[in-house]
Amino acid sequence: MIIVLKPKISKKDEAAVLAEIKHLGYQPHVMRGVARTVVGAIGDELTHQSLETLINTFPQSVESVLPIQKRYKLVSREAHPTNSRIQVRQHVIGGKKFHVMAGPCSVESEKQLLTTAVAVAKAGATILRGGAFKPRTSPYEFQGLGLKGLKLLAKARKETGLPVITELLSENHAELVAEYADILQIGARNAQNFQLLIAAAKTGKPVLLKRGLSMKIEEWLLAGEYVLANENPNLMFCERGIRTFETYTRNTLDLSTIPIIKKESHSPIVIDPSQGAGRSDLVMAMCKGAAAMGADALLVEVHPNPAEAWSDGAQQLTLDNFAKLMAELPPFIAAAGRE
Ligand code: PEP
Ligand code: MN
Repeated sequence: MIIVLKPKISKKDEAAVLAEIKHLGYQPHVMRGVARTVVGAIGDELTHQSLETLINTFPQSVESVLPIQKRYKLVSREAHPTNSRIQVRQHVIGGKKFHVMAGPCSVESEKQLLTTAVAVAKAGATILRGGAFKPRTSPYEFQGLGLKGLKLLAKARKETGLPVITELLSENHAELVAEYADILQIGARNAQNFQLLIAAAKTGKPVLLKRGLSMKIEEWLLAGEYVLANENPNLMFCERGIRTFETYTRNTLDLSTIPIIKKESHSPIVIDPSQGAGRSDLVMAMCKGAAAMGADALLVEVHPNPAEAWSDGAQQLTLDNFAKLMAELPPFIAAAGRE
């Protein structure tokens, strides 16, 4: 931490601050400038009280207390300069190859899931998505098929060879969902449910962490830190749009997260334009933009009949539109130096 002292404080007041820094378990290093004195305090905040309270203890002497290190460590690029590569069965996410995860918002029936899985596999998707446990804003909306949905995902994987991603909604289901899924999705509404993140990490399965509805990038990185700090290196960040004043789109898809996550972290970044835009007519353009900007993968909702979908109908692509998207994506993938 850096402690900036107020100008013209007495030697006695300065000594009192330094004594308190030592008392709290840190080593103070005094740097005297022309106008004011700055103190660098070296120590471990995990095992000692935070120095932030110095400003309250010494309001006459301390002007500000600033962290010098980033609060996230294991997710940071400094900790791991090369890109992390996440093995998901036969695929590697975060390597040269660009991936498309596609499938319905919710698993609704065997016919709906299998039809979609076969079609997205044929069009070139590499991973099948589908929610079995759904986080719905209203308790009166479809909550997902639960275990039946997980079993259908396993069946679709067997028939198509596509690994599956599905949401983990509750700590209580961690083992169960991990038994069926190849990637655990942590939804936007749970992005700072730290006990859930720990439970997901402990299954050892790759974790895809959505950005919360109103989450700052630093908070998102710190949520990711929970996964890595619990000995699971297989983390992917997923931008799915944040809440802004705009109502034209369901959310505001923040594509600046692609270069930002690439700069700050080694973990792959996945873009979900379906939740991001909330409108199927915008999904294709957002997918192309994300691919060209260097995202590692897309997460796209696809349904055989979006008009009759049990959730998120307005944003799901038809099978034909998904095939069209996949046919039009390659130049954008190539523009980012990917395959
Ligand atoms: C979803 O992927 O269907 C979903 C509910 O996502 P989010 O948590 O981003 O809203
Ligand atoms: Mn959805």
